[in-house]
Amino acid sequence: MKTVYVFGAGASAAEGAPVLRDFLKIAYRFFKEENYSTELDIVWEFLKHFHGSGTMIRHADELDRFPGLEEIFNIVDWSLLQNQAFSIRFSRARLHELKTALVKLISMTLDKSLHSYNGIHQSFVSEVIRGGEEISTFISLNYDIVLDNAIRTTGYAPEYGFYGNHSDHQDCRRGIPLYKLHGSLNWSFCPLCGEISEHNEKVAHLLFKDKFSITCLNCGSDNSQAIIIAPTLYKSYNINRLQNIWDCAGKSISLSDRLVFIGYSLAPADTSIIATIKRALNTRNKKREIVVINPNEEVCRRYKQIFGESCRVLCQKFTGEQT
Ligand SMILES: [Zn+2]
Repeated sequence: MKTVYVFGAGASAAEGAPVLRDFLKIAYRFFKEENYSTELDIVWEFLKHFHGSGTMIRHADELDRFPGLEEIFNIVDWSLLQNQAFSIRFSRARLHELKTALVKLISMTLDKSLHSYNGIHQSFVSEVIRGGEEISTFISLNYDIVLDNAIRTTGYAPEYGFYGNHSDHQDCRRGIPLYKLHGSLNWSFCPLCGEISEHNEKVAHLLFKDKFSITCLNCGSDNSQAIIIAPTLYKSYNINRLQNIWDCAGKSISLSDRLVFIGYSLAPADTSIIATIKRALNTRNKKREIVVINPNEEVCRRYKQIFGESCRVLCQKFTGEQT
């Protein structure tokens, strides 16, 4: 039986990663209150400016009064797409700078918050590998490398799908397909040759530093960038290697007999993902089992809206136990 597991933010949250709606608050605590980092000043400046003059932020908890990271991203992206400035203070050039700082905030916060894991992914992955006659496929919407490391501890390497097609990856005896649709903290992208370099450790938070560079493993250029596709409505995936990853993910879903969603909220803003999954399911007319593991009742209802009444919904937290 071919099984595809789709991992969302809730899976990483089970290992201690912050959820998106808390990102600003946690980042403020880390990089303003505990260890002041000037790199994110533009984010705090924008938030104060967002509510008008005289607005103060005195404490991390006050960040609850502002829109979450996702909505701030959407507003910035919308302005940039429309060729508009936000205000006199936030011209288009400064909005670009703000967007870079927001991506930097994500990678810095994740780097600081996930130092040790409690092993949920590890026990889950080893169980999957032990139990299945066929190699399973993993799709992840998370930037962190918890799942990647869990695969490595089983003696396999994650096959990210930068090249080739899904069938090649499935037949490969040393690798387990892990398609990370929104990028990864251990990848660097070279804008000169267009290749993605894969590293064993997280590099994304370093790539934003002024005096730091990572050499492209393909062409030797030292101008690499992070691949963190921001959580916005207006996502752009115009990197060829990333497109290949999406194609592989779509193919794996269309060939699957069983599709298991773990901690993924299926938010209406994730149009690109929902459309890709539905299209992949429609490519091959076969009977599939769809299983959902999510503790949120509203999210569980949403799965029935998108996939129909036949999907098996387990309204519970991800504990690493097999379904
Ligand atoms: Zn290069």
